[in-house]
Amino acid sequence: MKILFASSEIHPLIKTGGLADVAGALPVALRSKEIDVKLIMPAYQGILEKLPPVKNSTNLGNPFGCGDLILLETQLADSNTPIYLVQCQNLFERDAGPYLDIYGQDFGDNDIRFAAFSWVCALITQHGTLIGWQPDLLHLNDWQTGYAAAYLAAWRLNHPPIVTTVHNLRYNGSFPIERFDEVRLPHDLLSIHGMEFYGRYSSLKAGLVFADAITTVSPTYAHEILTPTYGDGLDGTLRAQSNKLSGILNGVDYNEWSPSIDPFIHTHYDLHSLDNKQQNKLALQRENGLPESPNIPVFGVVSRLTEQKGLDLIPAAIEPALKQGAMFILLGSGDKGLEQQYLDLQARYPDQVSIRIGYDEAYSHRLQAGIDMLLIPSRFEPCGLTQLYALKYGTLPIVRRTGGLADTVFEEGHHANGFVFNHATAEDLRSAIDRSLVAFSDLSTWRTLQIQAMTQDHSWERVTEQWINLYESLIN
Ligand code: ADP
Repeated sequence: MKILFASSEIHPLIKTGGLADVAGALPVALRSKEIDVKLIMPAYQGILEKLPPVKNSTNLGNPFGCGDLILLETQLADSNTPIYLVQCQNLFERDAGPYLDIYGQDFGDNDIRFAAFSWVCALITQHGTLIGWQPDLLHLNDWQTGYAAAYLAAWRLNHPPIVTTVHNLRYNGSFPIERFDEVRLPHDLLSIHGMEFYGRYSSLKAGLVFADAITTVSPTYAHEILTPTYGDGLDGTLRAQSNKLSGILNGVDYNEWSPSIDPFIHTHYDLHSLDNKQQNKLALQRENGLPESPNIPVFGVVSRLTEQKGLDLIPAAIEPALKQGAMFILLGSGDKGLEQQYLDLQARYPDQVSIRIGYDEAYSHRLQAGIDMLLIPSRFEPCGLTQLYALKYGTLPIVRRTGGLADTVFEEGHHANGFVFNHATAEDLRSAIDRSLVAFSDLSTWRTLQIQAMTQDHSWERVTEQWINLYESLIN
């Protein structure tokens, strides 16, 4: 079975969020089951230096008038997973991130950039003989690849089946209709049953309506997005397509996220040496200039700072705990107003609060290992990976009951592994924080919860079977 897996970010090459983690791990897990998966991603600036030398290079012409699109082939160094890179200097070789310029604004031509990338994905899917490898199925991820489904629809030829995975419906790739001609698609795709989206057009919608199957990254999110509250304007489209929608929970790459082997953390530990976790807490406090206090509860956050994540609720909700002496350590970046709120909190509690604004992969591991509770008060959460990492590190998540958080964190029963609240309010969050403090004050209760958290298996191997079944059902 040959699968072309298209993603705009892949860890460890480039990452802004969970999509990169998934694209870096699921294909590798599938290849271990003898599935011939190849990745495809844009050749952003600096990417080629992170990869072994290119083996093949094919010029695919200049269909968008932005310069030649060149398809390069190499493989990921660690896993030998084959990867195609779409090279085009004008479109992809830029300073700053994959989507935003150095001022944090969307690049003005993101429609053309990802249309061009998607066009190559569609071309390989339709005419794989060009490069000697034709996939049996095209797996698209999020709006950046949705255009590929539109090109395949526009070409009106029989083509291999398409799966579109929605990692976050909020980012719907919507652009002004006036720019539609730039992406070289026929206007008949602009109907309400096609890409039209409230007077604009949406590339994600193309990925939904022209796919043979739609998946989301957790079962609960797959239900939630059929409602106006979580559907972000696409719930009607999704309800019409609900017979092809399913939720498959994301997994964790335990080669990257295991406290027994994590190269980034101070002291290794596992289920049988949980006392060693404390060394990581002391090291984290030291690193942040906080008093080394092994018995004080330490709360933490690793997150993009956006409205989605509900992080505006934390300052008010955590303050009573801070007044009782707890600590709070945050790593994140994004919304400037939120950044400032947290810096203000740090200024008021300099010996208890440490805020690091930025993106730091190694520190995110040290933080997960060093804190006691991870706060994730998301308003919506398609899957969420940080709670899964926390569980493995014996760090108990405090989450809002939504999306993948609802599917993986439980406060009741013999699977209890964290704390769960219902409403996106500071009061509800505060009461979950209070419950966590009560549990933390009793070592044997806490240890039981930690052990239940650490023994939960969220490896990718657990879900590869579901993916293979889905692929097979579409290909046959
Ligand atoms: P989302 O994809 O919505 O951002 P996820 O929980 O699915 O949320 O995935 C977030 C990923 O990004 C995790 O791997 C997390 O550790 C990482 N991450 C988020 N913010 C930062 C940061 N500031 N520094 C380092 N890693 C971060």
